[in-house]
Amino acid sequence: MSAWIWMAADDAGMNEMAVAQVAQISALLGCPAQIWCAPDFEADAHACFAGLSVKAMPQFWDPDPGSYASMVVGHLASLDCVAVLGPHASWMAHGLSMAAAVFGVPFYSRILLSHAPECVRSICANRACESVRISGPFMGTVMPGCGAVTAGAWHVSSCIGAPVGGFHLPESMSLEMLVDDLVSLDRANVVFAGGRGLGSRENFDKLAHCAECYGAGLAASRLAVDLGWCRNDLQVGQTGRAVAPDIYVAFGISGAIQHIAGIQNARKIYAVNTDKNAPIFEFSDFGLIADAVQVIERLLNRVGE
Ligand SMILES: Cc1cc2nc3c(=O)[nH]c(=O)nc-3n(C[C@H](O)[C@H](O)[C@H](O)COP(=O)(O)OP(=O)(O)OC[C@H]3O[C@@H](n4cnc5c(N)ncnc54)[C@H](O)[C@@H]3O)c2cc1C
Repeated sequence: MSAWIWMAADDAGMNEMAVAQVAQISALLGCPAQIWCAPDFEADAHACFAGLSVKAMPQFWDPDPGSYASMVVGHLASLDCVAVLGPHASWMAHGLSMAAAVFGVPFYSRILLSHAPECVRSICANRACESVRISGPFMGTVMPGCGAVTAGAWHVSSCIGAPVGGFHLPESMSLEMLVDDLVSLDRANVVFAGGRGLGSRENFDKLAHCAECYGAGLAASRLAVDLGWCRNDLQVGQTGRAVAPDIYVAFGISGAIQHIAGIQNARKIYAVNTDKNAPIFEFSDFGLIADAVQVIERLLNRVGE
């Protein structure tokens, strides 16, 4: 029998509201929840989610998104499971979005279960809602407080269709690759980041190759992510991740304040932009007014010199 997983991470995932959320989601998905928690919380989880299956996960508290994703993927691969959800927190969102990428299933952050029928997830820092239609296995994070609504008031079933099948690992995808990427971005001394100014996915791939050649982490602006040039867990900024490398190099990134929010702790910011008035230069220690793609190509030509 298939199930869905509730990641009962902490107080936010293991309280009265969470119990109500779990019951509602189970009704919506048409299958029971299995509760995953840290071993220390196993007894609490049994008490809180009476009657539901509880599984204690040794690496549950690992704050490294890559290790967390590894844990999720390792345990899910052999399960008949249709959804994995947890209370929204950035580490949970990072970890689950990586795991979702491995399985090739969608990831939805900030799901608003208590919102109007068509509004399922919050976007733009809670200023707007986006309706999503879910028709297969998915992962996501749920905004807190949703359990306050009654089952009757919650009508998102019009958006979320009956799940089809479970999680299946594609043979071509390896978690190690993702873990390496993320670890390198979190711990890299140098980060190369690409924005819309790169002009195409092909050019973004060049940047990725360049970052690899120079041992730099790879990051992106939101527009680069929205254009589908890279995975969304590479997004840096207000609604992405924060990085703090010694050197952050922004290629074709305008320097919107929402992007800067994620790089404030970088020691040095270098920027390559064709527009001498681009805001990024106000935040940069070193600026180059140039075509970013040409600069990347020149950097690639110098590899091995
Ligand atoms: C609530 C909210 C949250 C947001 N969160 C984030 C976030 O987390 N992260 C984020 O990044 N954004 C975020 N945004 C979006 C943000 O406001 C910007 O729209 C986004 O950062 C712009 O991305 P960009 O710099 O790649 O693109 P653009 O703003 O389009 O800038 C492209 C830049 O490339 C330059 N350029 C063009 N061609 C070239 C070339 N050949 N060589 C060099 N330079 C070139 C241009 O001069 C321009 O400066 C958020 C927005 C909102 C409203």
